[in-house]
Amino acid sequence: MNRRSFIQKSALALGGTAMISLAAFRKQLLGLPNSDTMPLLFVGHGNPMNAILDNDYSRTWRELGRNLPAPKAILSISAHWLTRGGTKVTSTSTPETIHDFGGFPQQLFDQQYPAPGAPDFARQTIELVQKTHIEADQSWGLDHGTWSVLLPMLPEATIPVYQLSIDYSKPPRYHFELARELKKLREKGVLIMGSGNLVHNLRLMANTDQPYDWTVEFDAKMTAAIDERDFDRVVDFQNLGQLATLAHPTYDHFLPLLYTLGVVDEKDEIAYFNDSFDLGSVSMRSLLVKRA
Ligand code: ZN
Repeated sequence: MNRRSFIQKSALALGGTAMISLAAFRKQLLGLPNSDTMPLLFVGHGNPMNAILDNDYSRTWRELGRNLPAPKAILSISAHWLTRGGTKVTSTSTPETIHDFGGFPQQLFDQQYPAPGAPDFARQTIELVQKTHIEADQSWGLDHGTWSVLLPMLPEATIPVYQLSIDYSKPPRYHFELARELKKLREKGVLIMGSGNLVHNLRLMANTDQPYDWTVEFDAKMTAAIDERDFDRVVDFQNLGQLATLAHPTYDHFLPLLYTLGVVDEKDEIAYFNDSFDLGSVSMRSLLVKRA
């Protein structure tokens, strides 16, 4: 599928209907602890237009934002910041809103998310991680994987936000192991958010609410593995062969999930929200991880 038809289909999509109702998700939110141990998120961001459309996805993000304990900062691992041969962390105090897409209405390009950066937490993140050298970065800001979700979720944009890049030259397990080193940030009041999609095949997008069989199958297999806390099956998703290749011809949108799962510990509960499909080949299933 060429870029133009992708953009047209993306712009047309208004967001599907989530199977977990907002009312049911509200019950999950009631149990959010009011402590310094921050919940974790994996957010299926999907179409950038979700940032400004009033649909099931953005409404759930808004509701989530109203119920989250206030973090000291948000660390976002977005599918849209890929680096090669090294991991970077944004250390600027005034991150720019990056409009890293094309072919969308001007209204989307006009959006700004003027949250401050978190240079202190960026420094702490660099010090915390021993497995690899993380480099401070002043060039990246907040890409749409981050701000298209945070704009509806936390519209005041007062909480500092910083990003960690995804070194796409590394295998999936590397990212999961790196994330395990980020656990302490959660105790320091940092909300860690992976932003991608559990199924993401833009080449086979179709203008339909009906997901492909393989979209449903891959989503179900990953959900079962998460429910069983068998995260190795998620990390080793490529063992599913052609099913994995169909779900993720490139796996940039899958890796943010490994950052969220890497921080989960045995005391956590995992709830799902926005568990529906867009454009046949995108799963919007998202995770809220909270201390039981
Ligand atoms: Zn994306």
